Amino acid sequence: MAATTTSSLRRLANVASHLSFSRPFSSQHNLSSQTATLNTGAKIPIIGLGTWQSQPNEVEKAVEIALRKGYRHIDTALAYGNEAEVGRGIKNSGVPRSEIWLTTKLDNPWHKRVEEGINSSLESLGTDYVDLYLMHWPSSTDPTDLKKHLPDWNFIKTWQEIQKLAATGKVRNIGVSNFGIKNLEILLNDPSCKIVPAVNQVELHPNNPSPKLVEYCKTKGIHCTGYSCLGSTNSPLYSDKTLLSMAEAKGKTPQQVLLAWGIQKGWSVIPKSVNKERIEKNFELDGWQLTDEEIKKLDSLPDRFKVCGDAWLPIKVFFGDDE
Ligand code: NDP
Repeated sequence: MAATTTSSLRRLANVASHLSFSRPFSSQHNLSSQTATLNTGAKIPIIGLGTWQSQPNEVEKAVEIALRKGYRHIDTALAYGNEAEVGRGIKNSGVPRSEIWLTTKLDNPWHKRVEEGINSSLESLGTDYVDLYLMHWPSSTDPTDLKKHLPDWNFIKTWQEIQKLAATGKVRNIGVSNFGIKNLEILLNDPSCKIVPAVNQVELHPNNPSPKLVEYCKTKGIHCTGYSCLGSTNSPLYSDKTLLSMAEAKGKTPQQVLLAWGIQKGWSVIPKSVNKERIEKNFELDGWQLTDEEIKKLDSLPDRFKVCGDAWLPIKVFFGDDE
């Protein structure tokens, strides 16, 4: 009881200190329970658990811990090889499937086999639908030689196939990932594009803020989800002095500040962790916010780095036009 009172008082103190120099208190301070409305009308929870690079036997527990903490959004992909574990974590949590937003992605060597790709994912996940199905990369890789692009295929053809899935009930929303402005223009301007992607999942953190791309997506009604939102494994952001001193002054972790920055800028965030304490801390985003000045300060960090490039793909997908 005493602990609850202390933490309530601390929350009030945080809110009060915030009130003195920013917007008035509102439910907007409860960042963790916010959703963003997609162009389909669906509501995507603003914070989800990322699962890339989670080692085998780690991610099942991580998903369960996250859902028990209150997360209602899980991000996975066929390429991560962990969909079955993610599915088990969901079941173990006891949280009804209907309350969970589940995103998975079509892997590059599966572009010609979209129906097979979603069926494989659904079977592994142990569910009969996903809330969001993304084309993982705009690269139609030859499954027999991962260094080659399929000569008779491209992401427009893949999108035609993904669009067909929208009528099957297997996917509730469809979107893309790692699309820059150039490729989005090609896709949206093609006459076969009947459904505007609901989401573009791209790398977003203060050292890769991509304001042009974010703005472009906004004008097209495409919601952005920020991946590697903490800067990924061994993030250089964890030693950024501006971030560290801001986090210390606010009594928050640098990771919480990074997540609040992304959410307050308007995109959803999917931090990955397999550590119980970190999973839980990353979700504690209620009762405080960054001020406009703090957001601007993080917008102005001079360093630049990108976690996910395109050198490993058979074609170039990033053209430096989005920054
Ligand atoms: P993140 O930016 O989420 O960072 C994850 C790293 O930060 C891990 O090393 C994790 O370690 C550590 N970490 C997490 N929370 C804390 C904390 N509170 N304190 C200290 N360290 C912490 O990286 P990701 O690159 O994984 O991106 C997030 C998700 O985005 C992915 O998991 C995936 O779902 C998605 N993604 C999508 C891509 C795409 O192409 N569409 C590409 C890349 C990612 P630990 O686990 O030990 O806590």
